Amino acid sequence: MTRVFDDDLARGFGTRAIHAGQRPDMMSGAIMPPVYLTSTYVQEGLGKHKGYEYARTQNPTREALERNVAALEGARHGLAFSSGVACVDALMKLFKSGDHIICGENVYGGTYRLFDKVYRNFGIEYTFVDARDPQLIADACTPRTKAIVVETPTNPVMRLTDLKAAAQVAHKAGALLIVDNTFATPFFQHPFEHGADIVFHSTTKYLNGHSDMVGGIALLNDDDLATRLAFIQNTAGAVPGPMDCWLALRGTKTLHLRMPRHDANGRAIAAWLAKRLGHERVIYPGLESHPQHKLAKCQMTGFGGMIAVETGSQQNADAVLRRVRIFSLAESLGGVESLISHPASMTHASVPPATRAKFGLTDGLVRLSCGVEEQDDLLGDLEHAFAIL
Ligand SMILES: *Cc1c(COP(=O)(O)O)cnc(C)c1O
Repeated sequence: MTRVFDDDLARGFGTRAIHAGQRPDMMSGAIMPPVYLTSTYVQEGLGKHKGYEYARTQNPTREALERNVAALEGARHGLAFSSGVACVDALMKLFKSGDHIICGENVYGGTYRLFDKVYRNFGIEYTFVDARDPQLIADACTPRTKAIVVETPTNPVMRLTDLKAAAQVAHKAGALLIVDNTFATPFFQHPFEHGADIVFHSTTKYLNGHSDMVGGIALLNDDDLATRLAFIQNTAGAVPGPMDCWLALRGTKTLHLRMPRHDANGRAIAAWLAKRLGHERVIYPGLESHPQHKLAKCQMTGFGGMIAVETGSQQNADAVLRRVRIFSLAESLGGVESLISHPASMTHASVPPATRAKFGLTDGLVRLSCGVEEQDDLLGDLEHAFAIL
């Protein structure tokens, strides 16, 4: 189990991003943590070793990443996984048959699928609620409720959950508040300060930021819970490879440089789209027309680069997707390059159409992940693409 170096928590965000969890290599002085490509570690004698026995259980490159992201979230413990959904999967193994979990209805499609198609078969009961309203979360609580899982802002319709209110509901029910902080990142949102018990990320997205690996990470403060999750990490074994950990760690070093640019591009593009298409067709928490803009302003310190746009029909969406030249048609988000996607047929295809309709995830909706390219070039690209509307 990886615990942060205590002095790392004291420093400013940008300093933590670059240094936290890492010390120059003892043998060579290498400033970058080596990629420990090894499956095992030689032991001096029976029971005599350097704290490393087998690479599923411990890997120094993975530990550097775990300490680094934990320090960014202001948590004591970090546990990395082979993907974001592998991380959610490990979190579900903290629970057992008969337990009840409340989940925001508009979470990442893969999270929904894991709960609905896999864990329901193991006897965990799920209630999906509109997590924008803390009262609806409270109403769904039962004596068996063990956790409340929320994502804020959500993917792709950018709904927010009031984290402080959700934490109060969870703790009153004796449940854990688990927060997917993938979209906002610790640069813009600090769920632990609002009372979250576990924060997790798909490191695939903004934390890595360069679209060259897949991974997940959970951060926690409670020592017992961290010990249980470390047991699951080792026992179920969905650990990330050291090269992927190293890539994610290289990414987090520039998180504080990238996020303001994603945010600036996101704001400019959302404003342009709103002017061009009408405010009602553009969903971005930074727009004053967003129904939860006030909450976004007090819960987040920036709005990021994710925007959803209603084009009106699948044909319109298809036409826009065909016309972009800098934005690339692809799943995923949070990389330096701008991406555009069609959630109904891509990331959220496994969500039943009736459920998609309920939260406005229409066939005409396209999602933009604004990268860190030059703003004028991105605006020009969209001007050309949206000319057909
Ligand atoms: C991508 C994503 C996940 C899943 O992560 P993977 O690394 O793709 O397994 C979970 N939550 C959110 C918000 C995501 O965007």
